[in-house]
Amino acid sequence: MELRYKSTRSNSEAVSASQAILQGLAQDGGLYVPETLPRLDKSLEELAQMSYQETAYEVMKLFLTDFTESELKECISKAYDSKFDTEVIAPIVEADGTYYLELFHGATIAFKDMALSILPHLLITSAKKNHVKNEIVILTATSGDTGKAALAGFADVEGTRIIVFYPKNGVSPIQEKQMVTQKGDNTFVVGITGNFDDAQTGVKQLFGDKELAETMNQAGFQFSSANSINIGRLVPQVVYYVYAYAQLLKEGKIEKGEKMNVVVPTGNFGNILAAYFAKNMGVPIAKLICASNENKVLYDFFETGVYDRNREFVLTSSPSMDILISSNLERLIYLTAGADADKNAGFMQDLSTSGKYEITAGMKAQMEDFYGNYASEAETAETIKNLYEKTGYVIDTHTAVAAAVNYKYKKETGDNTKTVLASTASPFKFTRSVMNAIDAKYDAMGDFELVDELSKLANVTVPKAIEEIRTAPVLHTTVCDKEDMKSVVMRFLDIQ
Ligand SMILES: *Cc1c(COP(=O)(O)O)cnc(C)c1O
Repeated sequence: MELRYKSTRSNSEAVSASQAILQGLAQDGGLYVPETLPRLDKSLEELAQMSYQETAYEVMKLFLTDFTESELKECISKAYDSKFDTEVIAPIVEADGTYYLELFHGATIAFKDMALSILPHLLITSAKKNHVKNEIVILTATSGDTGKAALAGFADVEGTRIIVFYPKNGVSPIQEKQMVTQKGDNTFVVGITGNFDDAQTGVKQLFGDKELAETMNQAGFQFSSANSINIGRLVPQVVYYVYAYAQLLKEGKIEKGEKMNVVVPTGNFGNILAAYFAKNMGVPIAKLICASNENKVLYDFFETGVYDRNREFVLTSSPSMDILISSNLERLIYLTAGADADKNAGFMQDLSTSGKYEITAGMKAQMEDFYGNYASEAETAETIKNLYEKTGYVIDTHTAVAAAVNYKYKKETGDNTKTVLASTASPFKFTRSVMNAIDAKYDAMGDFELVDELSKLANVTVPKAIEEIRTAPVLHTTVCDKEDMKSVVMRFLDIQ
């Protein structure tokens, strides 16, 4: 039976999975949610015998029901290949009694690779299925991480082009180097003289520009987005929670039916929502532990039932979690409101007009499996240092936020359920913060010197993603004012 997707904001007609992937956001501004959450149709013992790719097929086929078996398997095999530096794709490392699920073995050594390596293939397959003849042009504004992961995912994928705008003076030197050295004839990276908000606003204007859309259509192009609200990014993330449980079962670390807790360092709420989906599909998950940094909107929300973005934005050492509007939370709001689009739309309206909303007691009760907490900058750094000194294992700042919250949770509750912690970035991606946490003396060293120090200290070889950018030639040098973004796009597409 076909699983269809509905918008969280109105009762407009449901669409197929491939249409939801193509559109990204629903016309009414809502997010697509499956009409029902499917149940796994293989036992966990069967899944325990499967590779990552086989597990991905078993999970994704339940969501993307209008993809044929061969289409889906082809997407999977193109995505999870030697771009990953380990055959198991998402290895589990045990440290201090917790299972760290390493989601950073892809092209850009952060967890966004898990979804962005398959999204381009899902997108072009969706385009074919819906008889879209145009070339798909991905347009993204980035504050650093997503841009590079999207570039790596879309580079040289036939039928697509990708344009990434980043704030010229608003990303780290390593992040900039990663982007401007990007290979692939279909990639285009542009620095803009402005901040991230300028880039974001400019991109939104381009998406909404009807005249440009018409010109592009005549030339055989159409825009699409690789945004984290796309169902084509959420579904691939469910896979690794199923895989993690199955692996623990296979290795005898967990017994059949025994529950595990999951801890996730959270920003946009995509990763932890995927864990919630996995739980609803039948993976024995007890608590979903949502870890925030000092931008602790979600912690306050789980405590009080009030989502309130009216607060100061804090820049932290875990920048990918510096977020005040967690877009994917809308899907949980909608589901706990009983799939009531009007009710959800009301909350979202409140959020846009007053910056806050309050859910009902009944909805809050349905979220009791979630536990929220946060870690301060000092607690995050201390956790990196303590774990390293105790075990020799070095984690990045985002993972450390989750680890700090995990220790708090255990202390507070005495719960000793086995725990899988989503490890979302390689420490090599945030080398300076990680090394400074271990010892302040490292602050005097240069970026690549620190990389070599970390390699020695952690006894881990420098990942290819970092090794490459040491010497890679700069291939993208375009810089423009925010007013000129449109003409830059037209020039890249060679249209008038
Ligand atoms: C994006 C990101 C997160 C946050 O994930 P969400 O799905 O947005 O909650 C956490 N850690 C790292 C390293 C990230 O890049």
